[in-house]
Amino acid sequence: MGGGSAGQPRLLTSPTEMRDEVLAARAAGRRVGFVPTMGALHAGHASLVDRATADCHEVAVSIFVNPTQFGPGEDYGRYPRMLEADTRLLERRGVRWIFAPRVEDLYPAGAATRVVVEGPALPFEGAIRPGHFSGVATVVCRLFTALPADAAYFGAKDWQQTLVVKRMVRDLGLPVDIVVCPTMREPDGLALSSRNAYLDAADRGRAVALHESLLLAERLWHAGAAVDAIERGMRDVLEAHGVALDYAAVVAAESLGPVPSQPTAAVALVAGRLGSTRLIDNRELPPRPSAD
Ligand code: AMP
Repeated sequence: MGGGSAGQPRLLTSPTEMRDEVLAARAAGRRVGFVPTMGALHAGHASLVDRATADCHEVAVSIFVNPTQFGPGEDYGRYPRMLEADTRLLERRGVRWIFAPRVEDLYPAGAATRVVVEGPALPFEGAIRPGHFSGVATVVCRLFTALPADAAYFGAKDWQQTLVVKRMVRDLGLPVDIVVCPTMREPDGLALSSRNAYLDAADRGRAVALHESLLLAERLWHAGAAVDAIERGMRDVLEAHGVALDYAAVVAAESLGPVPSQPTAAVALVAGRLGSTRLIDNRELPPRPSAD
């Protein structure tokens, strides 16, 4: 559609003002795209904005470091916050609104409601970070009421998150299209992430192991290897680079259950820690004639 407003984006913190603006634009026949983020924007976020701009007349980007999706001892306090630099990046891309609420704008004092998704939210990140996906689902639902867009854009980088959001939207009948966009990477393959800023030079070098393990998984998958042999190969790459592994798995792409014997799209998922930095990545694997 090639939308995108000229000039300064409007910065809003009030959910009711945000909602009024979006509803007015939609009433005027404008298709509105929404990119939810936690800020510290990089080229991965920018690619979502560009896709939204291509599909929609107007684009809104939220910047909100959501406390309810961080567990105790996680990096909520030190998560990078850089609204000015983020605003400059978004100005250059013709974004109409930046929605940057404070915690108290989004969650009323004494809030006692959370959205709980089961199914795709249970394994992997859900098992390692209890409450994380409930926090994600809660904030995404809350953001969708403040910002009732036609479509919302999410990165395949957080594969399991896309499944959780899609399931919530389906189950609750939320009136928004979910669009999943490809992962943007550094030249050596490391997936762009706001958390990469935590890595020191040595860990930054080791971090390429995640992508290498996924490329190996892809090669072995196409060669017809059994899932457990692929997973073993992935673990070997990660351990050789000193990544403290949370999981390395090949599962059905939509259910995250075991890969069935009939041809099914799969996904290789990997998560691990380098020092105090936790990184995740994944690669989609197309259906192959005979999964084991
Ligand atoms: P975050 O700010 O990390 O919560 O991410 C906001 C959105 O950007 C999510 O939908 C992420 O999946 C997406 N995203 C993060 N990193 C990348 C990347 N490297 N490529 C594409 N999308 C990304």
